[in-house]
Amino acid sequence: MIITEQKPFEEILKNLEGESKIFIVGCKLCATLCQTGGEEQVKEMKEKLEKEGKIVTGWVIIDPPCHILETKKVLREKESEVNSADAMLVLACGGGAQAVREASNKNTHPGCNTLFLGVIERFGQFSERCSLCTECVLEKTKGLCPITLCTKGLLNGPCGGAKEGKCEVDPEKDCGWQLIYKHLQELGKLELLKEFQPAKDYSKLMKPHKRILERKT
Ligand code: SF4
Ligand code: SF4
Repeated sequence: MIITEQKPFEEILKNLEGESKIFIVGCKLCATLCQTGGEEQVKEMKEKLEKEGKIVTGWVIIDPPCHILETKKVLREKESEVNSADAMLVLACGGGAQAVREASNKNTHPGCNTLFLGVIERFGQFSERCSLCTECVLEKTKGLCPITLCTKGLLNGPCGGAKEGKCEVDPEKDCGWQLIYKHLQELGKLELLKEFQPAKDYSKLMKPHKRILERKT
């Protein structure tokens, strides 16, 4: 899931300067789980904006706002509230904010910072697990991502600088390669470390990415 944090309210207010009527969009998926753009946070934002003298013309939680067609449909159902707003405020990831901009064609403000692709470890605790490298090597490491867990993103084993299991770059973090080694040892698969992992094809990281599924006939 996409992990977000809400922008500081002062920053949101500054971005809304000169706009008095605001329509707020939240997200039923990731931003709800991150507690940045669910119903509770959207209602809180509405209250805070109103205290600052803004008029909230309406709000909606879309399932999910990064789905452009769904967002267009939902915003059409709220046409008068959207049309009477000077701007949209989106409490979701950057993908959601841009989809709302495209669906509404209105001045759209991001209410969140998009942080990383992660997992929920427990309630309110999120950790990065994938750096979207496009060529997944989890098979070789049996499920731990070296690119994300190793601070230097090394593909073929550790840098040698770890101390007592901690990373030389950030002693607060476990050395990703020591975690991988221990895991492979437990599985009896240490021989996998002898296989050289070729350099990645970084041309695949050129943005913006696009993926179009072939239609089945
Ligand atoms: S290797 Fe790591 S960064 Fe690449 S796709 Fe797999 S989990 Fe993501
Ligand atoms: S100490 Fe470990 S996690 Fe840190 S950069 Fe070196 S191999 Fe990667």
